[in-house]
Amino acid sequence: MKLQTHKMTVTMDDHSSHLEQFKAFFKQLDDDNKTIEKLPRQMIEDYQLKAINAALAHIWNRNAYYRSRLEEYGFQEPKLNTLEQLADVPLLSKNVIRGDKQKILCVEPKEIGQVHLTSGTSGKPIYTSYSLADQYVYDLLPKYLELFKETDADVAAVALPYEFALPGLGFQRLFQFAFGTAVLSLGKGGYMAPVDKSLELMKEFEATVLATTPSYAALLAEESEKYGIRIGEDMKLKKIWLTGEGCSHTFRQRLEEWWGCEVSFFYGSTECGVVGVECSKHKGYHVAEGHVKVEIIDPVTEQVLPYGKTGEIVVTTLLREAMPMLRYRSGDIGYLQKSECECGLTMDILHLRGRMENIIRLGDQEFSPFLLEHFLMEIPDVGMWYTFKLDQGALKIAAEPFRTALSDEELAEKVRSHMASRIGVDCEVEINRAIPRTFGKATRIIS
Ligand SMILES: [Zn+2]
Repeated sequence: MKLQTHKMTVTMDDHSSHLEQFKAFFKQLDDDNKTIEKLPRQMIEDYQLKAINAALAHIWNRNAYYRSRLEEYGFQEPKLNTLEQLADVPLLSKNVIRGDKQKILCVEPKEIGQVHLTSGTSGKPIYTSYSLADQYVYDLLPKYLELFKETDADVAAVALPYEFALPGLGFQRLFQFAFGTAVLSLGKGGYMAPVDKSLELMKEFEATVLATTPSYAALLAEESEKYGIRIGEDMKLKKIWLTGEGCSHTFRQRLEEWWGCEVSFFYGSTECGVVGVECSKHKGYHVAEGHVKVEIIDPVTEQVLPYGKTGEIVVTTLLREAMPMLRYRSGDIGYLQKSECECGLTMDILHLRGRMENIIRLGDQEFSPFLLEHFLMEIPDVGMWYTFKLDQGALKIAAEPFRTALSDEELAEKVRSHMASRIGVDCEVEINRAIPRTFGKATRIIS
């Protein structure tokens, strides 16, 4: 097997950081024709402990806030003896860094190469600063060649937000600099590449890969019919990467049927970068353990939970110079599992259950929005646009019909009885033929 090589090497005069030592580790893996994906657990964990200790020493010397927090928690030196001791490191919550550019910055401001912002749907945005070395050197050190099959023979259409957000630029860098893939920077329905032009460009340049959100993948497929572009003939994709929103497996499978290619999930965030990537078995995300250490905590007691227990996903970045995230509370819900995946990867598996605030409470039960979506998508007469609204404890569903002979009344009844049998409570169903499409994040849970 020939390992892909990075197409670009950034040379930065006099540049050095606490991350230099890991170049040798990953170089050795390259030389041995290996990636971190299949290493024995002990080797992965030894690497992670070393990387966390390097990060702790870095922030101890470079950042007053992080240091004072560690000291408050009884640290006299920035060092862990075991990976389990990470539980002693204070958690970092969004509120602490929201709207604050400097608080956890660990380099001089002039060393910042790129600033990313979260979409800031709730209040001020979170600014995440990266050094050039973060993005073009360290971020590319761990390779996941089992998970990514893109090469320089591919053309990747990136239909993700580009303005300040990480997803568009992040995928662009990954494709270009890790795999040498040509990139069409489509964005999501912006001035330069509205939907019709995006589809035309994908056809014209014979795109083979698409990276986008679940809702935009559905929108592009839908619109292609309108513009007479035939999927599978005018446009032949071999892979779609979904990110940004998360969705159910049934929704994913529908996209696979529609687009006629494999569709896989990629889980990451603007603050932490890549966190998990789905393998071809589609049984959860393999944690990108070269880049991050993931823990699951009880959101109330903040105690670390064992494998199999659902709680809040906490992420520690391993290869960051400018703004390392230490035990960052993601606000996402999920659980970890030891990898016994048939694909042979040894990296832990993360099962994602959605945003904490989107968990829907019905009676004394809690439902992940992905699970409710899965139940809804089991009905083939329902389209891919819908909303769930919780109104005084009752669930109201608005759904669109899809290539069905049923009348609206018949379909509403079908949805009502199917959902009642799946979730055990009655809900109200409205058939709506014009659920608004969105170029931003799809709002499917209305509170
Ligand atoms: Zn796997």
